[in-house]
Amino acid sequence: MYRSASSSLEPKAIGGFLPERGADNPALRSSAKPRALIRIAGLRKRFANGTLALDGIDLDIKQGEFVSLLGPSGCGKSTLLRLIAGLSSVSEGTIEWPQSRYDAYGRPEPEIGFVFQEPTLMPWRTVAGNVALPLKVKRRPKAQITKAIAESLEMVGLGRFARTFPRQLSGGMKMRVSIARALADDPQILLMDEPFAALDEITRLKLNNDLLALWQKLQCTVVFVTHSVYESVFLSSRIIVMSSRPGRVIDDLSIDEPYPRTEEYRLSPAYAEHCRAVSLALKRAMAPGEQGPA
Ligand code: ADP
Ligand code: MG
Repeated sequence: MYRSASSSLEPKAIGGFLPERGADNPALRSSAKPRALIRIAGLRKRFANGTLALDGIDLDIKQGEFVSLLGPSGCGKSTLLRLIAGLSSVSEGTIEWPQSRYDAYGRPEPEIGFVFQEPTLMPWRTVAGNVALPLKVKRRPKAQITKAIAESLEMVGLGRFARTFPRQLSGGMKMRVSIARALADDPQILLMDEPFAALDEITRLKLNNDLLALWQKLQCTVVFVTHSVYESVFLSSRIIVMSSRPGRVIDDLSIDEPYPRTEEYRLSPAYAEHCRAVSLALKRAMAPGEQGPA
């Protein structure tokens, strides 16, 4: 079902993206150039009430990247994610999926998994029932659903909790169910909107580690919304810093550090230096001059 059945967390070429740098990395020599999975050009979003949420967004997201969208509250991060997911309509500009299939009407059909800030689980359904829901909506065969539930729950460490109800789970476990649900249909891309913001620090760090391991194992692409500099530097191969409303791309920073990333990385001078650079970029993004007319 998944592109990689391997459970190894060893670094490897991810959909053409190279998590390890250095000329001695064989993946660097053998792999093809990363291809754009999403191509955003001249994107503008104005809501019906006149609010200009996003303006002039040009952004390519390549297959296999772990991209964080970082910016102050209200800068349009969720709006951008919803536009990418097709949950909201573009006012001006384009969002293209060069590698996606298209439906009969010429609309792209990318395989997307979406994780919201809240786990949004149905309380009357078991964990398995919640994970099954989107697959049932898509009318997947029963045998495929059963397999997908077992595999995705196993991946998020909840293999034993299939029959449990959401009320019996901690906040971190509920979020794991939400991630399992997003992964169950084998998405090309995982869109995550501040998924760990409501969790305590220890749970959040653990979920950060597990998310990175999953990303490496599944070789998918992640677009991760956060307002935490530390979280974005730990997770991302690339950080897009957005200005206050209307949201614009102010900085596009590459976090060129090898994966897997461990506690050693979290405590390293390189991590601290990246956090400093990203904090400065965020400060620039929040400068009064960047705040355009709403
Ligand atoms: P972020 O996720 O970065 O905090 P949002 O994308 O949620 O920001 O919102 C960007 C701006 O657009 C905010 O000013 C918000 O109030 C506004 N906004 C979001 N959704 C709507 C909507 N449906 N109608 C009108 N304004 C909206
Ligand atoms: Mg938001």
